[in-house]
Amino acid sequence: MSIPQAKMELRPLGNTGLKVSSIGFGASPLGSVFGPVAEVDAVATVREAFRQGINFFDTSPYYGGTLSEKMLGKGLKALQVPRSDYIVATKCGRYQEGFDFSAERVTKSIDESLERLQLDYVDILHCHDIEFGSLDQIVSETIPALQKLKREGKTRFIGITGLPLSIFTYVLDRVPPGSVDVILSYCHYGVNDSTLFDLLPYLKSKGVGVISASPLAMGLLTEQGPPEWHPASPELKSACKAAAGHCKSKGKKITKLALQYSLGNKEVSSVLVGMSSVSQVEENVAAVRELEGVGMDQETLSEVEAILEPVKNQTWPSGIDQN
Ligand code: NAD
Repeated sequence: MSIPQAKMELRPLGNTGLKVSSIGFGASPLGSVFGPVAEVDAVATVREAFRQGINFFDTSPYYGGTLSEKMLGKGLKALQVPRSDYIVATKCGRYQEGFDFSAERVTKSIDESLERLQLDYVDILHCHDIEFGSLDQIVSETIPALQKLKREGKTRFIGITGLPLSIFTYVLDRVPPGSVDVILSYCHYGVNDSTLFDLLPYLKSKGVGVISASPLAMGLLTEQGPPEWHPASPELKSACKAAAGHCKSKGKKITKLALQYSLGNKEVSSVLVGMSSVSQVEENVAAVRELEGVGMDQETLSEVEAILEPVKNQTWPSGIDQN
């Protein structure tokens, strides 16, 4: 049985040969990290995303203490489509109980993930939030362990993720060329923070595919606002709240504007948005199609950029001291 799929722009992901949808499905909300999500809704959300042309799904054992992987696995299985019709990324090294980037743990981790996802392989296995581990261990132990998993067919490609942009250059300058296929950056290519932009030529020169996550700045750029645990400063939170309020007063949605902004640079292969309901999928896919059709609302974008100017590129600390 096949599901009729709408057309969506596909972009090449570095040198992997993969073609990922410009908007990717972030499955962290399926782990109920932004609020409870029932299994039936999780399955329906994954189905709607696939139906709308999204072919790229991202999760981690960390999200909801393995719940996200289980929910995504159920959603993908229910599609009943060939495995090659979708691209799945999961991660290793970060767990509810803490960080462990040892070769032994990540080797065990992929088997656990595959079982929860009900898959034989993943397309991408990322080292998750490497700034919380020793970057030298990532280079000398974790990535070689992942290369072994690649040879065994458990993952097709290898990635690294984290918040500080300096982690990517640190690792990519030290590993043999081609041993890291992709990077996943988050909260650095959005209306309030676009610092990833300056790193794109370097990443391209390394032949590394770029995935950018959290265009809504993990809820900062939404009408409902961020979850309790959000690490932004009170100043950044209140500026984003003002920007969302401004859009609302004009009858516009900040989520649409924010997503369209992040999608605007084709050097970024896929923009991962966390989605937990069919209506969010519909709304976000409509934003993509509108961008392809009539383009962005430049007037509202300028107004929002002016509101966010005092906090532009403000981020928050993440990780351990590497010295
Ligand atoms: P996000 O910026 O995508 O925001 C997600 C929040 O916005 C959720 O609460 C979601 O329900 C809500 N939302 C989505 N569409 C909406 C709409 N149209 N209207 C109102 N609210 C809407 O943040 P995120 O989920 O943290 O990031 C996206 C994905 O990227 C994650 O799910 C995860 O897969 C990945 N990610 C990875 C890392 C990492 O590897 N370190 C870090 C962050 C994100």
